[in-house]
Amino acid sequence: MAVASRLVKPETQDLLHLSVLRTERLSPHWMRVTLGGGDIARFRPMGYDQWFRIFLPLGGDEGLERLPAKAHKLFGYLKYLRIPDGMRPVMRNYSVRAFRPATMDAPAELDVDFVLHGSASDGTAGPASRWAETAEPGESVVIIDEGLAFNPARGTDRVLLVTDETGLPAVSSICASLPSAATGLAIIEVAEAADALEFPHPSGVEVRWIVRDHAAKPGALALDALIASDLLPTPFHAYLAGEQALPTEGRRHLVGRGVSKDLISFCGYWRVGAASPTPKSQLAGAEAHS
Ligand SMILES: Cc1cc2nc3c(=O)[nH]c(=O)nc-3n(C[C@H](O)[C@H](O)[C@H](O)COP(=O)(O)OP(=O)(O)OC[C@H]3O[C@@H](n4cnc5c(N)ncnc54)[C@H](O)[C@@H]3O)c2cc1C
Repeated sequence: MAVASRLVKPETQDLLHLSVLRTERLSPHWMRVTLGGGDIARFRPMGYDQWFRIFLPLGGDEGLERLPAKAHKLFGYLKYLRIPDGMRPVMRNYSVRAFRPATMDAPAELDVDFVLHGSASDGTAGPASRWAETAEPGESVVIIDEGLAFNPARGTDRVLLVTDETGLPAVSSICASLPSAATGLAIIEVAEAADALEFPHPSGVEVRWIVRDHAAKPGALALDALIASDLLPTPFHAYLAGEQALPTEGRRHLVGRGVSKDLISFCGYWRVGAASPTPKSQLAGAEAHS
């Protein structure tokens, strides 16, 4: 893995027990789930594209109580697999959309934006999407912090951010973390116009929304837009995320245009036709892809 884009590890990777405080339907394909309570005081926000493993209690809270430490690493994962089928929580990867620290008047809160794909009612949604669509306040979850994949060389404030909708929370948070003088281009593909959730960004970062044609494979139009765009002046740092083909092909394209691999962080967030993979391949996905 390139030095410039090595993962930035979090301070701790303890299991943090949290609960759903509220949910908000933001648009046809977005559900915001706000988490807090429990161990929220132990969460350390890092900004940028901070992401975490989330364990969802689809078989009831007992499964969460039985989660072993380091359930996202090989030995912990083997213990996690010993939790009986039907009780074992589902593990998925999500990004910190926003974190609000505790104040005198209000406890800390963590927003997670879930893409709703398929439908909970007709059984075509994945477990995480289905859970988010129907989550109720008071439900429990567990998270394990994973830190950052976006890791440009110090002082690089020109960015190229390309993603489908799954990377919109990360791109929004990266833009919130950049200095106000940052410049660059963000290309973001969404399923429909109403899903283009505006977010604050430095005025020098152009945000280009692409609304997917229903027949197109997710990420394909963002990739086309990347290929058609003028290369930013160097130096810049690229962050490519989304359906596997977008970061993989996007990276190949940039390298072909002479961009150093060190200047590209990329992460396959999901794959058409495949449920979220096991930790081993997830780790390979997240760590090798920068
Ligand atoms: C580092 C990282 C950060 C991420 N952050 C976020 C985030 O903040 N918000 C977010 O929504 N997602 C995020 N993702 C992507 C998310 O983890 C995947 O979309 C995950 O597969 C969803 O789980 P599921 O249980 O709903 O579906 P799965 O059980 O994993 O998949 C079931 C089926 O649904 C399909 N599918 C999965 N995701 C999608 C999708 N988005 N659109 C259409 N079909 C899909 C699969 O191809 C499969 O056929 C992130 C992924 C990574 C690696």
